[in-house]
Amino acid sequence: MEKKKKLTTAAGIPYAKHEDSMTVGPRGPILLQDFILHEKMAHFNRERIPERVVHAKGTGAFGKFTVTHDISKYTRAGLFRKVGNECRVFVRFSTVGGEKGSADTERDPRGFAIKFYTEDGNWDLVGNNTPVFFIKDPKKFSDFIHTQKRNPKTNLKDATMFWDFFSLNPETMHQGIVLFSDRGTPYSYRNMNGYGSHTFSMINARNERVWVKYHIKTQQGIKNFTGPEADEMRGKNPDWAQEDFIKAIEGGNFPKWTMKIQVMTEEQAKTFKWNPFDLTKVWPHGDFPLIDVGVMELNQIPENYFRDVEQSAFAPAHVVDGLGYSFDKMLQGRLLSYPDAHRYRLGANYEQIPVNRPITQVNNYERDASMRVDDNGGSSPNYHPNSFDDIVAMPDQKEPPMVLDSNVADWYDRNENDDDHFTQPGMLFEKVMTPQEQQNTINNIVGHMKGICGPKKDEIIQRQLGHFFKTSQKLGEGVAKGLGVTFKG
Ligand code: NDP
Repeated sequence: MEKKKKLTTAAGIPYAKHEDSMTVGPRGPILLQDFILHEKMAHFNRERIPERVVHAKGTGAFGKFTVTHDISKYTRAGLFRKVGNECRVFVRFSTVGGEKGSADTERDPRGFAIKFYTEDGNWDLVGNNTPVFFIKDPKKFSDFIHTQKRNPKTNLKDATMFWDFFSLNPETMHQGIVLFSDRGTPYSYRNMNGYGSHTFSMINARNERVWVKYHIKTQQGIKNFTGPEADEMRGKNPDWAQEDFIKAIEGGNFPKWTMKIQVMTEEQAKTFKWNPFDLTKVWPHGDFPLIDVGVMELNQIPENYFRDVEQSAFAPAHVVDGLGYSFDKMLQGRLLSYPDAHRYRLGANYEQIPVNRPITQVNNYERDASMRVDDNGGSSPNYHPNSFDDIVAMPDQKEPPMVLDSNVADWYDRNENDDDHFTQPGMLFEKVMTPQEQQNTINNIVGHMKGICGPKKDEIIQRQLGHFFKTSQKLGEGVAKGLGVTFKG
């Protein structure tokens, strides 16, 4: 007979009864000394860790990334040293505003976070399925997200606060148009692109820097739900995207994406007509053509969701030598806030959790803290410099110095010389979208704006209509007509 495993307590002690508590007589009270009962109930009470404040609902998979084209003239990163180089990846897809049990087809951006386990340490590209974002200064992030979540009094989603924020912050227009197009309701995680969205940098072997945008293009083709289709699926199967993703991979139908980059030199950045570090703007393809880099395939669903997906922790701060940050204010805010969120949710040692652990050796002087589960540096020195170990800093990994165009610190108005919120969304609406896509976008906006209510209703609608008219006459007229209101100008 097959050898069975012993049932044990968490302390590894085999025990006799898993289903019956120890009682005084078969119908009497339970004895306190049945600590296994207590252990089971107490552990159960602690099963939930804090939900992610954003990106709570998600799914993920492991896979591989293969370099297909030589970009070593832009970066000295080891991963890109040679065509054919491969590394393991873990990717987590998510919606943004909804809670952990919310529906997958909600109108929302989708998170597209990639962890590359490279031989130089972990590189996290923590992107979305859109190339831009609603705001350009991280100081506004919590205010913005509050408007996407629930009303503090009613605990309901609230179109009034949503459009109040949008209308008072016209820089939301670009991402807003993407959100209300059918790309705001992707058919599945397999059928959408990913974008690093921020401007990053690459540094080559000669220590020269270029600015870079990442594009991760689906090989399955873009496919979206229309608004009504997404609404229907929300009721039919709230886990639609997760189910589609898992079934595809378990069935051997491995989704693939092509990674491309856009490159801007430091000289080009000085004369680019928009701020190249403004997250509400793209770099036009015509001016900055896409350059092929590699292919990513996802091929393995984790054996345990909580272990790998719920505990996965991505941080835009994690870049490896040859890849770097930029002055993008939203990126700078995320450099600090992502690791902070992980320390809160998972603890100071979150990078020791298997899915977050690099394949490289970790050598530093950080010690202790809750849930330290490696050897904690053993008996080696916990200070630097010291006369005992052979750990050395790596000066050759230093980036070239950054030249700034000002030495005056102040709270600058983010829009003062940067207030063109309408040209790029106008190009998207008028030049890129088909008439059908334009009409769907108008219908989706009208459907949502009809939820605006209360004493400020007319003020909010008029203010937002003003932004739509500045973006596109056709868009403004379509929304005003759909709402049955006259724009007062
Ligand atoms: P292009 O005509 O070269 O690019 C247009 C791009 O728009 C397409 O390549 C596609 O990007 C994307 N697109 C198509 N439909 C939608 C939609 N419903 N929602 C969002 N994106 C869509 O023009 P430009 O590069 O000059 O850009 C024109 C406008 O296109 C921009 O203002 C921006 O709004 C949008 N766009 C531009 C991107 C860029 O990086 N330049 C990226 C995405 C959108 P993709 O191939 O990535 O799917």
